[in-house]
Amino acid sequence: MNEHLTQQAFARTTKRWPIYMDHHATTPVDSRVLDVAVRMMVEEFGNANGVENTHGEQAAHAVSQAKAFVAKIVSAESDDVHFTSGSTEAIQLAIAHAIALQSRPLRVAMSRVEHKAVIDTILQAERMGLVQKSWISVDDKACLDWSSLEGALSQGVDLVCVMAANNEVGTIYPVQRITRACHDHGAAILVDATQAVGRMAFDVGSEVVDYIALSGHKVYGPKGIGALVAPNFDRSTTYGLQGSHSPTPNVAGIVAMGRACEIMDLEGVQESARLEHLRNHLQQRLVALLPGVVINGDVVNRLPHNLHLSVPGVPNDVILARLRGKLSISTGSACNTGAQEPSHVLQAMGLPDALLESCLRIGLGRSTDLDDVEVAATLIADAVHVVRASFSGADHV
Ligand code: PLP
Repeated sequence: MNEHLTQQAFARTTKRWPIYMDHHATTPVDSRVLDVAVRMMVEEFGNANGVENTHGEQAAHAVSQAKAFVAKIVSAESDDVHFTSGSTEAIQLAIAHAIALQSRPLRVAMSRVEHKAVIDTILQAERMGLVQKSWISVDDKACLDWSSLEGALSQGVDLVCVMAANNEVGTIYPVQRITRACHDHGAAILVDATQAVGRMAFDVGSEVVDYIALSGHKVYGPKGIGALVAPNFDRSTTYGLQGSHSPTPNVAGIVAMGRACEIMDLEGVQESARLEHLRNHLQQRLVALLPGVVINGDVVNRLPHNLHLSVPGVPNDVILARLRGKLSISTGSACNTGAQEPSHVLQAMGLPDALLESCLRIGLGRSTDLDDVEVAATLIADAVHVVRASFSGADHV
């Protein structure tokens, strides 16, 4: 595979039918990432824990290089990178660590639009008596209600959980400002940067975020690898039973994630500008084709590849069924069982049921081009027209 494959060539080589526009759910592995993963499995396959021979040394060196790439993308230090199986595990470790630092239940304030990986972990810890939680509200664009955050902080909080960008509506949060407010009140902060990494600047100035969670498969790396970036993290504090032996690192996954972050770091700004342009084009086409369509989230401060919309009166499951096999998009609110629940994000935004039931999440990505956008707009509009026609026909029966 060509190491110097450009973004555009990557786009052409990965063209597939159905068109994939669900890049918030996961991303395909970039062939440049695959190259290094295969190399680490087949050629430089040493055990990074066994540095007394060349193979082990090479693997350990590759792991430390990967740490540097991951750290750079979130403006952190290499030593603070701890690899995990993904963001969910990173979040769970961060919360477990924060709990272990307290001799009483951890006081947590979390935004109402956090990913379930955060919310479910906190609720479980609360049921176990390990956490006392409070909620931070959002407005109808999913922007943080600043007075709600300040209210929580002034009550006394140990840990605040606010994501860098929302995985459903794409709203971006002012991480630096929130981190400063937390630290001014003596609270630590957990930033779930899973969707934000490489797609927006992650600059917190002189602040140091206490816990950052990120995931390989959201940045064109493999599934099953992620990282917790945390300056004061120590696994032995989290797991009291852990001995001094460290598990053999998943070198191929780690190096792949490092390469994915390196590519995001090099190309993310350009890629985001391209996707923002395509996203805006898709939005304009859908607004023109579908009278009554509503764009959800903060259209000014939004992830560049995110388009979240509702078509009132047109149930989203019916639309997805019509698009199946042609265009992969989602509602963004599937739970683990595969059953659809109303989105807790849209509920927290106070959106009416008509918008909840008809919401669609579209996530553009590295392989998306203008043709895809044109075809997607037509497919979605056609599906909506058919459903509307069938409903109005039913009304007249
Ligand atoms: N946090 C956010 C915002 C996400 O979007 C996701 C995945 O969808 C996760 C956490 C969980 O990530 P992972 O699949 O790496 O466990």
